[in-house]
Amino acid sequence: MKGPILTNTTTDDLDLGFDPDALREKYRQERDRRIRPDGTAQYRRTHGEFGYCAKDPYTPWGERAPRTDTVEVLVIGAGFGGLLTAAKLRDAGVASVRLMDEAGDVGGTWYWNRYPGIHCDIESYLYMPLLEETGYMPQWRYAPGEEIRRHAVRIAEQYDLYRDTAFHTRATELRWDEEQAHWLVRTDRGDEMHARYVVVSSGTLSQPKLPGIPGIEEFQGHTFHTSRWDYGYTGGDAEGGMTGLADKRVAVVGTGATGLQAIPEIAADAAQLYVFQRTPSSVDVRDNRPTDPEWAASLQPGWQRELMENFLAILSGEEVEEDLVQDGWTATPALQRKMITGRLDTSLDPAERERRDEIADFAVMNRIRSRVGDVVEDPATAEALMPWYRYMCKRPGFSDLYLQAFNRDNVTLVDTADHGGVTRMTQNAVVVGSDEYEVDCVIFATGFETGVSGVVSGTLPAHGRDGIALLEAWSRGPRTLHGFTSHGFPNLFHLGSLQNANSVNFVHILTEQAQHISAMVSAARERGARYVEPTREAEQRWCDTLQDVAVDNSEFLAECTPGYYNGEGTRTGASTSYAPGPVAFHQLLADWREDSMDEVLVIGTGGSPSDHEVARSDFVGQGAA
Ligand code: NDP
Repeated sequence: MKGPILTNTTTDDLDLGFDPDALREKYRQERDRRIRPDGTAQYRRTHGEFGYCAKDPYTPWGERAPRTDTVEVLVIGAGFGGLLTAAKLRDAGVASVRLMDEAGDVGGTWYWNRYPGIHCDIESYLYMPLLEETGYMPQWRYAPGEEIRRHAVRIAEQYDLYRDTAFHTRATELRWDEEQAHWLVRTDRGDEMHARYVVVSSGTLSQPKLPGIPGIEEFQGHTFHTSRWDYGYTGGDAEGGMTGLADKRVAVVGTGATGLQAIPEIAADAAQLYVFQRTPSSVDVRDNRPTDPEWAASLQPGWQRELMENFLAILSGEEVEEDLVQDGWTATPALQRKMITGRLDTSLDPAERERRDEIADFAVMNRIRSRVGDVVEDPATAEALMPWYRYMCKRPGFSDLYLQAFNRDNVTLVDTADHGGVTRMTQNAVVVGSDEYEVDCVIFATGFETGVSGVVSGTLPAHGRDGIALLEAWSRGPRTLHGFTSHGFPNLFHLGSLQNANSVNFVHILTEQAQHISAMVSAARERGARYVEPTREAEQRWCDTLQDVAVDNSEFLAECTPGYYNGEGTRTGASTSYAPGPVAFHQLLADWREDSMDEVLVIGTGGSPSDHEVARSDFVGQGAA
């Protein structure tokens, strides 16, 4: 890679081979080119006239009568979080578990996202859950999406979770009935279900969003979002073979993790492909390969947990003897800790730690930029594909096909950075500045609304004891015990990273969450408890703990190029997860299950509504409403 930024300069870092001051300045300029005053308001929701972009293209919608029945546990969301929780509950002997989802089947993100080229970007051996329990071995190191979706189905079948499901159903309201000690769950299908326990695992990146491009509604050609792929139009499947595109001029808007995977497949099948890029992704080596049968045969029981824990420990900054995964993620743990919680090296003072992190970040990004120059033949295209920001400002990308696609004659990169994105659309074209690109089809790889799902955002109102709305109880910020439960909202459990843990291998986090929720429900059942709820004191202690250990990453976020990680350049502050990281958090949960679980259990002897009042544990008695 050439250019003044990588040549030696004047600072103390002469031996680095690059000038940190110049890089810092370049990053700033590139960020300023992209900051938009409208921030997150630049996007359109997939509602109203754009509602078709969120419709389910995979499973036909069937009419059914509203249900007014009772289940013991209702799990909202049938992605891996919901499936794992339901599976653990089954293991614990809970027979009455209902999965509910807006989708037509299980799988969550892997149900919706079926675009060509889709793959997991975490090693499948540690990403795909319950491999030993189901006796399944992934065929590839990074599994294709369809293999992962089928694995979700396998889990549902093995744990008999299809027995009682409510698909194509959206919960619209949760209301606690104190007398009956259960939740009334209303849905968009007119249901009024009753559930002793409700588990909300509805994900955070699920509602597709569209760019608010002027004239987007005027376009007369074909359009769809990558998470609702229209194979009826393109032909083929996730492995390619999209013969319907053979005579089409296709535009793809967006070059995030989805664009990286879909673009090489579209490039192979379309007559002409225009890629509209605003910010280039970082694209590191993928090195996907089929599973080695000898390696698979050599594995001893407990291998998956060992791999998962090794990966999580490395990314969380814990000491390990060996890196069992050795991929792009385990090579950059210190850089990831800018965005994802974990143990910080406290032997260094914060300024020195930051200096070292920044130098390491520059070095990794220089290597990634060099790779663009090595792979992409046209120098102007290569220059436009180079990412100028710190590693974790955006989700890091990996591909051995993406950059190569720009060497094809039928692929054109259109850089929209100077215009804040695509300028406008007409009846038959996508316009950037004064250049018009006539196309037959526009595919939006423009990502998802963040945090719109579930009770936390208010899209699913939850009314707890005395009718109090959850968001009202949280008017001065979220209040939970360990992210799972809140005072005043008995028997309601949340999955997710809020006041809990986070990792790029989020399925590992979900696995621990499922185990923890199952343990709480099991303990309540064993003791004949009517409900599980934290005391106000326990909740307050957890909020205080989170605040005491919080690490503020405002400066990092403010300097980042805009994206959903920093609210399109508007978000600063501390992470909402437990800052010492997931390994420490999981240990804390295990200790708590062992020593302190009674703090949240309200012991009732069953039967009459007043039982729990007299039998409340001392801990709860002090702060209960
Ligand atoms: P992203 O939000 O990451 O990317 C959206 C893209 O659309 C960006 O490149 C954005 O540019 C671009 N864009 C938005 N508006 C415009 C506009 N007006 N003009 C031009 N370009 C525009 O969405 P993805 O679907 O790619 O990824 C979302 C998340 O899903 C990932 O971060 C990851 O967590 C997950 N994912 C995981 C995968 C896996 O393998 N595990 C695969 C795919 C996704 P800009 O960057 O400038 O805003």
